[in-house]
Amino acid sequence: MNKVELLGRWTRTKSEEIYGIKSWGGGYFSISDKGEVMVDPFFGDQPGVPVSLMDIISGVRERGLDMPVLLRFENLLDAQISLLNDSFRKAMQELNYCGSYQGVYPIKVNQQQQVVQEVTRFGQRYHHGLEVGSKPELIAALSEMKDKQACLICNGYKDEEFIDLGLYALKMGFQCFFVVEFPGEVDLILDRAERLGVKPNIGVRIKLSSKAGGHWTESGGDRSIFGLNMTQVIEMVDALKERKMLDSLKLVHYHLGSQVPNIRDIRAAVQEAARVYVELVKEGAPMGWLDLGGGLAVDYDGSKTNFSSSRNYSIQEYCADVIEAVMTVMDNSSVDHPVVITESGRALVAYYSVLLFNVLDVAEFERYEIPGQLDESVPEQIRNLHEVNSLLTQKNLQECYNDALYYRDNIRDMFNHGHISLRERSLAEKIFWNTIHKIIELKVRLKRIPGDLVDLENAIADIYYCNFSVFQSIPDSWAIDQLFPVMPVHRLLEMPDHNAILADITCDCDGKIDRFIDPHDVRRTLPVHALKDNSDYYLGAFLVGAYQETLGDLHNLFGDTNVVSVRIETDGTFEITGEIEGDSVEDVLSYVEYDLRAMRNEFRQTAEEAVRSGLISPRERREVLSSIEDGLRGYTYYER
Ligand SMILES: *Cc1c(COP(=O)(O)O)cnc(C)c1O
Repeated sequence: MNKVELLGRWTRTKSEEIYGIKSWGGGYFSISDKGEVMVDPFFGDQPGVPVSLMDIISGVRERGLDMPVLLRFENLLDAQISLLNDSFRKAMQELNYCGSYQGVYPIKVNQQQQVVQEVTRFGQRYHHGLEVGSKPELIAALSEMKDKQACLICNGYKDEEFIDLGLYALKMGFQCFFVVEFPGEVDLILDRAERLGVKPNIGVRIKLSSKAGGHWTESGGDRSIFGLNMTQVIEMVDALKERKMLDSLKLVHYHLGSQVPNIRDIRAAVQEAARVYVELVKEGAPMGWLDLGGGLAVDYDGSKTNFSSSRNYSIQEYCADVIEAVMTVMDNSSVDHPVVITESGRALVAYYSVLLFNVLDVAEFERYEIPGQLDESVPEQIRNLHEVNSLLTQKNLQECYNDALYYRDNIRDMFNHGHISLRERSLAEKIFWNTIHKIIELKVRLKRIPGDLVDLENAIADIYYCNFSVFQSIPDSWAIDQLFPVMPVHRLLEMPDHNAILADITCDCDGKIDRFIDPHDVRRTLPVHALKDNSDYYLGAFLVGAYQETLGDLHNLFGDTNVVSVRIETDGTFEITGEIEGDSVEDVLSYVEYDLRAMRNEFRQTAEEAVRSGLISPRERREVLSSIEDGLRGYTYYER
């Protein structure tokens, strides 16, 4: 932000740049001329009137819900479903592809009933189906799915019950596929199918030799834990032939891993899988479906690169490249173009949720004033440090920085050996940090900032204490260092003149965000505004719709946040279509198996004993018990 800072009056454009909202926002998020973050699901052909997140926040607060709140925007989910399907259709048209596209949504990415409902409801126009990897997911899918033309893909480890359920779905007219993930599975499927008198649709998950970069590299490649290697595929084909069931083999599937940032890895995998598909056709299997799994990435940092939080392709490029690669392989062997399936989850739901939270407190790195002149009685090392401070200019920054560090270390040693007093050491620290502040101010005027000084701001970052739990609401930020865009949702016409890291309220040393998106690198601090007395300061963590909700945990017993679903109308009004109150203290205690009744009794007795020993009055006992009651019923987060 340093260069920008010097350019005078702060504007909306500067906020857009510094927070990169146009780069990661997918066109859905912007900043208004009032300096607030706006949401607009209707960009493109049918632009709507954007809605301010601040208006939604006040709507939510008026309804009595406290921060943190997870907002879910139904329209953003719809918009992403359209975008993916339309992009595939367009690519197929342009390339004269003769097959079709049928997406399936992998339930595990966000299992909330509302999400699955919205995907099946809105996705019906595209016959967008579902992918399941377990019995509960299959049952959830069957209860929501209405569209018999959509695909229902069954992955995962399958027992008899799972298989029977899928076979009944097939009998009832659903396009249900069993994807064989382990060599032994095919026999069980055939046995159960024979017993139920139905011909199964079988797919095979293959282990590719292609590998992808990114966090989830192990899903692809020879060492991936799921899928059949080429020898096992051939053995399966022979087994099917032997049972005269090869005509059940219709689909090839692979999953390269999630968030594949590099389009070259995607192309390589498609090509390899398409080759296997062609070979299975040559073996005599009917085939017809090629399922490319997930992996379509989200550009969390807006850098459009092959960095793990980004992707070096657009959805349109993804679709065009995939279709072109499939076509090339099919045409080379004169094989009919298959129906292409993808199992994109992350790209469909990431935009859908925004976590909003308020800042509770700030630990500022104070800039101490120092005397212009030091007394002769002050130890020499401290006077030297002071001299470094006063000699500081733009020309000798690096040298002065080195000297300041040198004297600081010396002074610490002297203190440890009893040669200077605590008061003197405090003086030295004030001078040292004053020097660092000065260096930071001066360095922004340099054309080339010396390496040591580039990240010096981080040393004096403020800590903003925020009302949320990283572990509950954005676990991937903690567990795998994934970056999410985080920014203030208002005051964006004011210069953010503080640099901060965000601490959550778990008071766990890992409960923080200290890595932020940056177009070229990873920032260690976030530019934020100073808190104003008596007014709340709100931040948002964006693109948190994929994977975060169910992976979140109860660390420090912070529970589910309040959730509010919002539908935005084209005229810029919005409707709160659902609200789910977050966990109460009572809820989270019962999750970890506290017996609430026994606890209440214990409290009563403890309070009674206190009365008996004269520590509190009976009236105070009543008050204690009633505040315990309030506490148990309350929200687990900080309440105003
Ligand atoms: C997780 C998973 C997906 C979803 O991947 P995204 O990268 O989120 O699109 C798809 N298919 C399978 C088999 C998966 O395990």
